[in-house]
Amino acid sequence: MASGSPFFDDLRNKSEVVDPPQTEEMMDVESVNDPTQTALKSNVTVSSSVHELLECPVCLNAMYPPIHQCLNGHTLCYGCKPRVHNRCPTCRHELGNIRCLALEKVAASLELPCKYQSYGCMGIYPYYSKDKHEKQCVYRPYNCPYAGSECTVIGDIPYLVGHLKDDHKVDMHNGSTFNHRYVKSNPHEVENATWMLTVFSCFGQYFCLHFEAFQLGMAPVYIAFLRFMGDDNEAKNYSYSLEVGGNGRKMIWQGVPRSIRDTHRKVRDSFDGLIIQRNMALFFSGGDRKELKLRVTGRIWKEQ
Ligand SMILES: [Zn+2]
Ligand SMILES: [Zn+2]
Ligand SMILES: [Zn+2]
Ligand SMILES: [Zn+2]
Repeated sequence: MASGSPFFDDLRNKSEVVDPPQTEEMMDVESVNDPTQTALKSNVTVSSSVHELLECPVCLNAMYPPIHQCLNGHTLCYGCKPRVHNRCPTCRHELGNIRCLALEKVAASLELPCKYQSYGCMGIYPYYSKDKHEKQCVYRPYNCPYAGSECTVIGDIPYLVGHLKDDHKVDMHNGSTFNHRYVKSNPHEVENATWMLTVFSCFGQYFCLHFEAFQLGMAPVYIAFLRFMGDDNEAKNYSYSLEVGGNGRKMIWQGVPRSIRDTHRKVRDSFDGLIIQRNMALFFSGGDRKELKLRVTGRIWKEQ
């Protein structure tokens, strides 16, 4: 699956291919001889068996108060209780309305490591706030930023950069300026979601440049925008500009890269990028309306 879509003949200036940093071995932190590590490990083992008790037998999610139980002591989460028609899903006895306070209190006393420990998060959280932390954890993996496929790969940034390069054959460019030409021989056919992705490496960071043709109502449009491979608070430290033109016309967009935590589709559908109507694109291309030739130049910089 190459990033060069069949839609565009890619005539971009070739620039140097950057090797992404190697993915680091992540799990290699256990030290058996270290007594503090061993103690921590056994605590975590006890916690995780209690953790299993806190798994709802119906939805398999972690249970939060009020936790219910049947007369025989089988437990159930409050979300599933209305769905089992007052029958215990384990023993089929009548469920009644008994709360399992003991288990709720045990849960309250639990402290568990963040589930993204293997990604580098060292946080230990009370059972009832762990979920909230994990939704915001800065170590939580990113989704693959490659658009146009159902790729389910997740990982940290170095891993995803390698994945984009090796598995999606995405072009990697080094530097903070770029100059691309997108050429299409029949500009009157615009299929939905035709796109290209290029990854830029500069300032020790990675950026994804998306270029896409899509149908907006009846009108074909092109959009180009940049996403930052990292979190939103860091993305805000950068700005970028895109310029498209030709044939005496020019259009400039300046924007802030969006974090790849925001999906490609979300950014596109919010129009947070350089948007070019097809008629305008054909003017830029020289006006014979036979071929679409877009020269997009751009620059990324760091705000002080
Ligand atoms: Zn449940
Ligand atoms: Zn039961
Ligand atoms: Zn965490
Ligand atoms: Zn992918």
